[in-house]
Amino acid sequence: MEVVDKGLLKQLVEGRIADDDVDEMRRMAKKDHQRFWTYLDILQEKVSWDNTILMRLNDHLYIVMRGNERIVKCDCGHEYGDYRVNWKLHTDIRTRDTQESMEKVYYPTAAAPDADWMEVREFFCPGCSAQLAVEIVPPGYPLTFEAFPDLDRFYREFMNKPLEDESPDWFKDKTADYLAAL
Ligand SMILES: [Zn+2]
Repeated sequence: MEVVDKGLLKQLVEGRIADDDVDEMRRMAKKDHQRFWTYLDILQEKVSWDNTILMRLNDHLYIVMRGNERIVKCDCGHEYGDYRVNWKLHTDIRTRDTQESMEKVYYPTAAAPDADWMEVREFFCPGCSAQLAVEIVPPGYPLTFEAFPDLDRFYREFMNKPLEDESPDWFKDKTADYLAAL
């Protein structure tokens, strides 16, 4: 296999690819450069909105273009605002901070964290209620910013196709500014 065709990549994205095909893809001497663009095409076809997808963050969230902004958007259409601000701040959060509440989601229950030391935070989309992330951290720990990609550098250096609105300002975490302004 020289190039992964779109049909195969779509099967991969949808989790219904055959094991043999995965093996063959893994054995490719060189990954084809086109794959990322085909991947974006597939993602774009699967969502119901028109904003251009720049990168996928997880099963439901994407960084997309909205006019001259780069925002985080759920596949359901819910928008989380500027991608430089941790999107978790705009989710519905359930915190499990008692042993009893943690043991409801751990099996065996002995595997649950110690509620004296840790808490379990679950993040849900306000638009579709999908669970977007889970983090297990000491109480009071700031929300972890799981992925903050340098999009300009990725598109320029790795994909050889710079974004039109490149600016050093895009790769600045604005979460603290956002919180300070509340
Ligand atoms: Zn959603």
